[in-house]
Amino acid sequence: SRREGFSAIPNVKWDDVGGLDSLRKEFDRCIVRRIRFPEDYERFGLDLETGLLLYGPPGCGKTLIAKAVANEAGANFIHIKGPELLNKYVGESELAVRTLFSRARTCSPCILFFDEVDALTTMRGKEGGWVVERLLNQLLIELDGAEQRRGVFVIGATNRPEVMDPAVLRPGRFGKLLYVPLPSSDERGLILKALGRKKPIDASVDLSAIGRMEACENLSGADLVALMNEAAMIALEDKPTSTESTFYAAPWTIKTTHFEQALTKIS
Ligand code: ATP
Repeated sequence: SRREGFSAIPNVKWDDVGGLDSLRKEFDRCIVRRIRFPEDYERFGLDLETGLLLYGPPGCGKTLIAKAVANEAGANFIHIKGPELLNKYVGESELAVRTLFSRARTCSPCILFFDEVDALTTMRGKEGGWVVERLLNQLLIELDGAEQRRGVFVIGATNRPEVMDPAVLRPGRFGKLLYVPLPSSDERGLILKALGRKKPIDASVDLSAIGRMEACENLSGADLVALMNEAAMIALEDKPTSTESTFYAAPWTIKTTHFEQALTKIS
């Protein structure tokens, strides 16, 4: 995996994201078109860049969407994990935040993605709380500096928005909250299709139907990745040995039975 804070245009396409269409529209308005057509937004007086906060259960695509947005906009992407900013000596956290924003400015347009952003605000008042408080203050300074934020788009992600300091959620900061839910039964089918694009799925397999199966209820996107990989593994193990395979004209594929076996395994 990439070094912390490394910037690059991610290779995640929106086709890799299953479902979540309304989120895509929102990101299109708030970030993608703003980067593509800055003159329009300026002429209409829409030059205030507000941060967006993605919240919801783990493994449902928050990081994935943020990367796809950067890819669509042709923007650089810096992935930062909230708790890692705290793993610094006193005083260094503030410097780390300043450095981060300055690095984002030098490679703008840039999306600055704060994973587990709640970690930066929950420890207030507790032991070591003043380290967090100073870090948070620095973060707010950076978020509030409209000029400094030109071309820098901030997205946060959290599983626990309720523990976040309300000061962070004001307009201009992480002012827009977007819920990323567990996928619906139809969305599970769409996610499986997105994941299946890179796998030899047999033409007889109905991924929508698999997504609607009762055994798939409450599975997250990350769980569906596990399901897809397990099915692929079972299919591979099920592949006839080379002497037997001469009977098969078509290449070996993942079939419905492999998904069914995978489902009993992962649940
Ligand atoms: P966390 O809160 O744990 O950080 P997250 O919401 O950021 O989770 P991701 O890291 O984006 O979750 O998702 C985990 C993996 O699950 C992704 O790498 C992706 O492969 C898969 N995934 C999740 N949601 C989707 C989706 N809607 N479409 C396609 N794949 C998905």
